[in-house]
Order: sequence, then structure tokens, then C-alpha cells
Amino acid sequence: MRETNWRASAGCRGTDPELFFPIGSGSSFPTVAQSEEAKAVCGRCPVARECLDWALNVAVEGVWGGTTEAERRAIRRCSA
Ligand code: SF4
Repeated sequence: MRETNWRASAGCRGTDPELFFPIGSGSSFPTVAQSEEAKAVCGRCPVARECLDWALNVAVEGVWGGTTEAERRAIRRCSA
């Protein structure tokens, strides 16, 4: 089982979880604006690296580790 203790220090604790799961097309303004707002929270998070590592290894939707799902797909492609 992967280490998940980093979640206790998550910068998004207390933030509405829906912020991290934008609805709609990936390039529509509301979706991009919401993703950027979520990524700003991640930018202040002390465990963003751990979160990103986890998200890269688990197929999850939404913003994790300061990245969108599409950005993580691109990272995976570059790492393959
Ligand atoms: S990087 Fe973002 S999604 Fe991950 S724990 Fe931190 S604030 Fe939450």
C-alpha cells in the first residue's frame, strides 16, 4: 500500500472538495478558472510533491498536486 500520511498535512483540508473537480470541458473558461483556483491552493500546499507523486500513480480525476488530469497524462507520456 502506498504511503498516504501526507494527507494529514494537505493544504486543501477545509477547502470545498468540489473546487478540485471542475465540471465541463477542459478548455472552457469556467473549467480553466476553477482549475487555476484549485492549483493556487496546491501552490501553497506543503505536501504538493507527495500528492503529485500519488496522483501520477493512481488514475484520478480532478486537480491534485497542482496539476489537472490532462497535465498528469502529459507528465506520464514524457516519463514513459
Ligand atoms: S497538492 Fe493540492 S490537492 Fe494535493 S494535498 Fe495539496 S492542496 Fe490538496
